[in-house]
Amino acid sequence: MSLSFEEKLDRYAELAVKVGVGLQKGQRLMLRGAVEAAPLVRLVVEKAYQAGASVVEVLWDDEASALARYRFAAPDTFNSIPTAAADALLKGGENGDALLAIRANDPDLLAGQNPEIVTKVQRMNMEYMQPFSRRITGKEINWSIAAAPVPAWAEKVFPDLTPEDAMAKLWETIFRICRVDQDDPVAAWTKHLDKLASWRAHLNAKAYRELRYKAPGTDLILGMPDNQYWMGGRSVSSRNDIDFVANLPTEEVFSAPHREKAEGVVTASKPLSYAGTLIDDFSLTFEGGRVVDVKAGSGEAIFKKLIETDEGASRLGEVALVPHSSPISASGILFYNTLFDENASCHLAVGKAYRPCIVDGVKMSDDEFKAAGGNDSLTHVDFMIGSEEMDIDGVTESGEVEAIMRAGEFAFGD
Ligand code: ZN
Ligand code: ZN
Repeated sequence: MSLSFEEKLDRYAELAVKVGVGLQKGQRLMLRGAVEAAPLVRLVVEKAYQAGASVVEVLWDDEASALARYRFAAPDTFNSIPTAAADALLKGGENGDALLAIRANDPDLLAGQNPEIVTKVQRMNMEYMQPFSRRITGKEINWSIAAAPVPAWAEKVFPDLTPEDAMAKLWETIFRICRVDQDDPVAAWTKHLDKLASWRAHLNAKAYRELRYKAPGTDLILGMPDNQYWMGGRSVSSRNDIDFVANLPTEEVFSAPHREKAEGVVTASKPLSYAGTLIDDFSLTFEGGRVVDVKAGSGEAIFKKLIETDEGASRLGEVALVPHSSPISASGILFYNTLFDENASCHLAVGKAYRPCIVDGVKMSDDEFKAAGGNDSLTHVDFMIGSEEMDIDGVTESGEVEAIMRAGEFAFGD
């Protein structure tokens, strides 16, 4: 049985509501919807009401309007940001509403714009949204993100195809990677999430005090906090005990490395699309957990600005393991989009750590979290380091060295 595009879109919308955000009867849903993806956003609204939503509040995102400001507003006017949608999110977060974001981004949207102004606006946004980001990273409410193609993105991913074919192929790829084309997508997701849960359980039981990475251009040791906690796949909202999956797709298990214990060099295995700029061919050197050197073939200035955002931006907030054989990696496609590319590969992130990655981190004060090894920052940016040439060892409390990954695949279990 082969499904029509409309049938697949319908399943995708349903998956986002049921498996992604895990919407409950009577819950309010804040739906951040890209105007470019309006047909999918409207389908999601229908599925949400069918699932029992009391109110679905659509907050439309429009990249073209955002771009117009950078193009035409006077440079000395960038001292404030639009706040209507932001205020709605802050209020909904306070209320415990669910959040679903349907993103449709042009990866090069801001490429030609002044990086000083771009990072300044990003900083103002992050500061304004901080109380809300805390609820998100702290998994206080149930939330999820899914993506929809736009022509500029599709043509970047498939430059050799006609614009129509590129859009069609990107949709097909997203459907396949999100298991939408399988007989029973919800059952396929249950099986997949169970597998992630078993890897997570293994790493939590081992509680390695160090992770050692070896790959071409990479020789890195990450010290782990005493009370590390590995997550991945399903999450449970602390506020109201709802199962949700924060990202569609998701292939990673992740935790927080100790903010002061990264030593060595790590080389990115894929380019990073950040703030509308492509940062490519880069490596970072760490001492005492801090980035002390950045080398990049392109986008070096933007990356350096990023890690100067604040003190925590030059330290690591996430360590994530993804088998090289994950469907995204197997597709061999570079998506220029972190939601997909981060699931293709083992990765790290500079900036904010997820509070639940340290046991009881959600309940700690900022100082306690920092003392436990957790990093804090306004920013959180993932970059890919995994490949089929990557080996990772874990060092146990008693000093034994055990294989975690060999040639990019998990070396334990199953
Ligand atoms: Zn990640
Ligand atoms: Zn991340």
